[in-house]
Amino acid sequence: MPSPTKVVPPVIDEKLDDVYAEVLRRNPGESEFHQAVNEVLDSLGPSIAKHPQFARRKIIQRICEPERQIIFRVPWEDDAGEVHINRGFRVEFNSALGPYKGGLRFHPSVNLGIVKFLGFEQIFKNALTGLPIGGAKGGSDFDPKGRSNREIMRFCQSFMTELYRHLGEYTDVPAGDIGVGGREIGWMFGQYKRITNRWESGVLTGKGTEWGGSLVRTEATGYGTVFFLQEMLAARGTELAGRTCLVSGSGNVAIYAIEKLVEEGARVVACSDSGGVIHDPDGIDLDLLKQIKEVERARISVYADRRPSATFTEAGNIWEIPCDVALPCATQNELTGRDAEKLIANGCIAVAEGANMPTMPEGVRAFQDAGVSFGPGKAANAGGVATSALEMQQNASRDSWTFEYTEDRLRMIMKGIHTSCYETAKEYGQPGNYVIGANIAGFERVARAMVALGLI
Ligand code: NAP
Repeated sequence: MPSPTKVVPPVIDEKLDDVYAEVLRRNPGESEFHQAVNEVLDSLGPSIAKHPQFARRKIIQRICEPERQIIFRVPWEDDAGEVHINRGFRVEFNSALGPYKGGLRFHPSVNLGIVKFLGFEQIFKNALTGLPIGGAKGGSDFDPKGRSNREIMRFCQSFMTELYRHLGEYTDVPAGDIGVGGREIGWMFGQYKRITNRWESGVLTGKGTEWGGSLVRTEATGYGTVFFLQEMLAARGTELAGRTCLVSGSGNVAIYAIEKLVEEGARVVACSDSGGVIHDPDGIDLDLLKQIKEVERARISVYADRRPSATFTEAGNIWEIPCDVALPCATQNELTGRDAEKLIANGCIAVAEGANMPTMPEGVRAFQDAGVSFGPGKAANAGGVATSALEMQQNASRDSWTFEYTEDRLRMIMKGIHTSCYETAKEYGQPGNYVIGANIAGFERVARAMVALGLI
């Protein structure tokens, strides 16, 4: 994984300069949040010009201020009896379209600025799905790496002992993110149920399929990113089958992106974790990858020990490997401007972001200038939260749908998001610019709801 370099933000429409300056003043030191706001404001000038009521009602200023921010202490005891204190966060950003919805991240890098960047992105992503969900995000600076199951369970229980009072199926519905999968959701749901004495399945999504979870939720973000990629490729008159792909990361999003890419006839030759990069020119062996990452929870380097065709490069840079298509699926700011230049020089024609904000602004500009189809995370990875909303629908009707039906719904939702971004970009004179399309389409849906709901 390349080391992060300084972010050079794009220039914002001058009408929004003051709004951005105020965001910087009110939220000092939150660089990821600044970057996410800057990227959205950079797109909104034409929408504000077309809809003066949004400016009059100060919709953008209100959207940049979370409705509620919760920060709390999470004390827990390790297996040796030592006490640890972590910090928990939940930023309930915007509920104009529905209950707050967005994942929980457990990673040592988590701080308020990161949770706010993710929560801010989530508002527009959720709006793009067309489903009734508001935007939120949360998590903790707890590091699950190297911790026993019992330690992680105790942490999850302590985390939920505070968070439960802020949740509810009509209030706030968290899900997983980095470091939080089905196992952690189970332990948190168990604690919620124990404290409230309510089997309220709609309070968390990403649950196990035997106790209220939806089929396809595990696969949804990765699959959805590939469905979005297929739409982008179709829009430029080509297809995925036969393409060589890179997928960074080897967590939930990466694994299921790889699964769908392979199913659709592409070849994935590399993936990674924070320790380094696996290059397997014969194509990643998905069963082996799942065994190592999902069953053994081991490091990706183990893959090369067991697969003769693969090499592992410690601290390597995945974006230097030639490909047709790149899917950054690990974390924010993992793909720099230099990486983008390298990908372009190697003939990459499309990039779909499975992770949130993985491409730095210089990289986005380089892709767009070179005519690479670039699908931003808030559109391309919206399949996870969309399927969470489908899980909420199933919970509300006490029903459970088949894998095929749910996957079809997901595919249709991703197709709809692509159409909405594509058509909006065209309407605003920027055909093919999915960044502008996603930002304006997501923003306008939230803005119309906020105008309709009065001064909230
Ligand atoms: P995950 O299962 O925890 O996997 C994360 C992967 O990214 C791991 O391979 C991890 O490697 C790597 N990674 C994490 N932090 C890193 C860092 N600072 N530097 C380098 N590598 C890092 O998480 P996930 O659910 O796949 O999420 C991946 C991305 O997708 C995140 O940006 C998340 O916000 C986004 N996303 C997830 C969902 C969802 O449904 N899960 C939905 C939408 C968007 P190590 O094990 O070495 O840390």
